[in-house]
Amino acid sequence: MTELQRPEPKPGVMDIAAYVPGKSAAPAGVKTVYKLSSNESPLGASPKAVDAVRDVAGKLEFYPDGSATRLREAIAEVHGLNPANIICSNGSDEVLGLLALTYLQPGDEAIFTEHGFLVYRIYTQAASAVPVAVKETDETADVDAILAAVTEKTKIVFLANPNNPTGTYIPFEEVRRLHAALPKHVLLVLDAAYAEYVRRNDYESGMELVASSQNVVMTRTFSKIHGLGGARLGWMYAPAHIIDALNRVRGPFNVNAVAIEAGIAAIRDRAHVEEAVAHNDKWLVWLTEELTKLGLRVTPSVGNFVLIHFPDEAHSAAAADDYLTQRGYILRRVGGYGFPNALRMTIGTEEANRGVVSALTEFLKP
Ligand SMILES: *Cc1c(COP(=O)(O)O)cnc(C)c1O
Repeated sequence: MTELQRPEPKPGVMDIAAYVPGKSAAPAGVKTVYKLSSNESPLGASPKAVDAVRDVAGKLEFYPDGSATRLREAIAEVHGLNPANIICSNGSDEVLGLLALTYLQPGDEAIFTEHGFLVYRIYTQAASAVPVAVKETDETADVDAILAAVTEKTKIVFLANPNNPTGTYIPFEEVRRLHAALPKHVLLVLDAAYAEYVRRNDYESGMELVASSQNVVMTRTFSKIHGLGGARLGWMYAPAHIIDALNRVRGPFNVNAVAIEAGIAAIRDRAHVEEAVAHNDKWLVWLTEELTKLGLRVTPSVGNFVLIHFPDEAHSAAAADDYLTQRGYILRRVGGYGFPNALRMTIGTEEANRGVVSALTEFLKP
């Protein structure tokens, strides 16, 4: 055996492209910064969640409840679920990672779509499994393409519905068709991070399918509609056997006390959620129209962000990003998602939205 001069990560780890979060800084001298790069809520967190965090700040010496019971009960109450089928996590990223760690062995395959959320690939590789990215159609998940990629080695299918960074979704009939055709031992992960924003009659986040199947889970987050990205809180609704497996693998106190209290207050504040949905509805439509009028192609989105495609080299996404950043508007480069000439913009405050449209109007002037 050749002697190693230092510890080496297991094979595959150094092939992982580390996740690059949305930028938050603008050049020195920019007065107001509008961070529109991470799909954070322009309304912020519920004031009730902020109060709950203040209260818990005086008790930080105590470990949290390792099973987050009150939080699971609050989530269950609001969504009409059994708390025993809920597991909470340090952001939904963590639960996605736990699924990979629990269900993927070296050599197994996990499927996701071409422009799917990058975290699926990262955790698949971290579990020493093989990431399989399948083609989308019209920047939308394609059920037939997913099914065509299933092999004997497939263990997980990750589907973000709606997807980030495209904002597109597939109707629930399509999700059902996918599930019906998957082998029973393949885990279907429905990542519904943006479910609250979707206003379409043919959309469902997947709760009923979870309840009536043994191989479907749905993940949700407090980072988007609830405005708690900084607190790191997510959850999953799953069959009992999957909850049981993940409870053995997860850290014993994976959700901290601050997140637990913020989450309980946030999920009960339905008025704040409705306000966030109404704001998004209005400005998603407005931005899509205004950007389209400027001659930019916008992928039709049902989430709290839009994917904006830039036309030519003179007006590239990179040039637009520089131009906007200098004016304090921080959007998201999405080259890593297979869109070298697009930017993703989170729906912001009225001021931010109008500001971006004005800046892009100037930018595009011949
Ligand atoms: C933002 C996002 C999440 C949520 O991540 P957290 O870890 O809960 O902050 C999950 N999935 C998708 C597709 C997302 O865009």
